[in-house]
Amino acid sequence: MSQFRFSRRPDIGGKVRVSFEFFPPKTDEMEARLWDTVTRLQPLKPHFVSVTYGAGGSTRERTARTVRRILEQSTLTPAAHLTCVNASREQVDQVIAEFAEMGVTRFVALRGDPAEGVGALYRPHPAGYANGADMVGALKAAGDFDISVSAYPEKHPESPDFATDIEMLKRKVDNGATRAITQFFFDNDLYERYVERVRRAGIYIPIVPGILPVHNFAQVANFSARAGTLVPAWLAERFDGLDKDPQTHALVAAAVAAEQVLDLVERGVGDFHFYTMNRADLAFAICHMIGIRGDLDKASPAAA
Ligand code: FAD
Repeated sequence: MSQFRFSRRPDIGGKVRVSFEFFPPKTDEMEARLWDTVTRLQPLKPHFVSVTYGAGGSTRERTARTVRRILEQSTLTPAAHLTCVNASREQVDQVIAEFAEMGVTRFVALRGDPAEGVGALYRPHPAGYANGADMVGALKAAGDFDISVSAYPEKHPESPDFATDIEMLKRKVDNGATRAITQFFFDNDLYERYVERVRRAGIYIPIVPGILPVHNFAQVANFSARAGTLVPAWLAERFDGLDKDPQTHALVAAAVAAEQVLDLVERGVGDFHFYTMNRADLAFAICHMIGIRGDLDKASPAAA
């Protein structure tokens, strides 16, 4: 009976598509690790890979350098994240022009968090764009780009309610966004309910689930609290007592992420965005399970 599950079909790999998110490295050592990750994930032929933009625009140069290297030294298509934190419209427009000049055609348009960190009061730059929807408008005015935006299955912590949150998503779509990538979540029912709400609001772009493999449960739990993401009791229970047992922690993390992704596949989801944290192994293993193999000959084996 169970062989008829959608996720167990032999042709499943042709029905799902993935993208990977990286952050710009700070040191030579981190740069080397990112490049190992890129090399390992590249044969999986992701739809695109995205490179984040640091808080307060602090990584502008590093984001640009990473995106340029991906363009020049890999076969991957990069999407540059862009925020309007502490930047005038002129400065944002300049950054867009620089990326376009480099050959970037995809962007993830965001407002961003205050430079003081998540939870601090956000104040738009007096001469700047105010939010994600404005950023989409700026990109649309600058060129024919593929524009992804953020979406929040558990609503953004600053949104007073879901209606306000979804109204912002609607404005982004009206301004030209082609896809939304969600904040990470662990409860697939919440994602499904959110997508239903979004569709009822007349929004029909793909709402791609953002999957966060739990490399470090303590850190993820901490960040979830600030981001408004529910950490279900069953999830905490699975990682309980594994702080000092990295091997078991990694195995449990792989199992948890695989369970989440396979369940979403069963629910009809075909696009996934992985927050890789610049590590390949968990994302690679989960892709393998959903039939995304790429060219196996070219895939470098996992580090021993
Ligand atoms: P918006 O979509 O503009 O706003 C988010 C929500 O807040 C809206 O739904 C809206 O309802 C509500 N809101 C906004 N302003 C107000 C207001 N004045 N009053 C009431 N409600 C309001 N951060 C980075 O710094 N760099 C990155 O590269 C980055 N990449 C990300 C990628 C993804 C896929 C996601 C989901 C998030 C990412 N973030 C990144 C985090 C993001 O910047 C934060 O979540 C930020 O707080 C909101 O940015 P946004 O573009 O989602 O904002």
